[in-house]
Amino acid sequence: KDFTSGSEVRWCPGCGDYAILAAVQGFMPELGIKRENVVCVSGIGCSSRFPYYLDTYGLHSIHGRAPAIATGLVTARPDLNVWVITGDGDALSIGGNHLIHALRRNVNLTILLFNNRIYGLTKGQYSPTSEPGKITKSTPVGSVDTPFNPVSLALGAEATFVARTLDSDRKHLTSVLKQAVEHRGSALVEIYQNCPIFNDGAFDVLKDRDEAQARLIRLEHGEPITFGVDGTKGVVRAADGTFEVADVATVGLENVVVHDAENPNPATQFALSRLDDPT
Ligand code: SF4
Repeated sequence: KDFTSGSEVRWCPGCGDYAILAAVQGFMPELGIKRENVVCVSGIGCSSRFPYYLDTYGLHSIHGRAPAIATGLVTARPDLNVWVITGDGDALSIGGNHLIHALRRNVNLTILLFNNRIYGLTKGQYSPTSEPGKITKSTPVGSVDTPFNPVSLALGAEATFVARTLDSDRKHLTSVLKQAVEHRGSALVEIYQNCPIFNDGAFDVLKDRDEAQARLIRLEHGEPITFGVDGTKGVVRAADGTFEVADVATVGLENVVVHDAENPNPATQFALSRLDDPT
């Protein structure tokens, strides 16, 4: 039996959340974890309805506080497999403080951060990951804020597993999520998630096959990092701590997935700088 619950799914047609749910429901039986030993704790937002749709224990909790509640749970019951399901507004605005402390404490949590770069549930306000100049109901002349980069934030908090993947890339999404669940310690997986109602096409450039081939680099632990050449400079910090300047066919961290599932020592993680700040 898979992990599908009987609850009616209430996301808008075409929402990227469906793809993430399908991926999770698909691989959970392969992990060999009993459903009664899994707990999904969510905050508030569209993504936070996720626990209703998995046949596990779940808690639809308080806005931004899911990492704190999950920390308490896994501290009391370390035998459980505890997930945090959150979004860019929930995790990085009201819940930013809880998130960074869960990461720096290396609490044994799998954190899925659905990033659609918008507040969907409240109908389209700019979020902490919206791009500068974003015009929304709450920023009618364009956002003046610099967005958070969740991967940079997690690396800065010395999380021991950091990854980014894409809702429509089922193969990579599944691979990354499985490794995150198997990691002991804090694992943060940012998932680019399309919101077709309020921010449609935010990640379309990554879904175009030719563009993706040219600009997207998939990193998996243990694989050599190779970059295409388009003249763009970037800096890579290798596992031994050295820095190299590379020509990279990407636009920076926006398109790079970073994770190191087998080596939990933050000092040996791969990190990539922003390309516009190669020092
Ligand atoms: Fe998905 Fe956007 Fe609808 Fe929320 S508002 S369910 S993120 S499509």
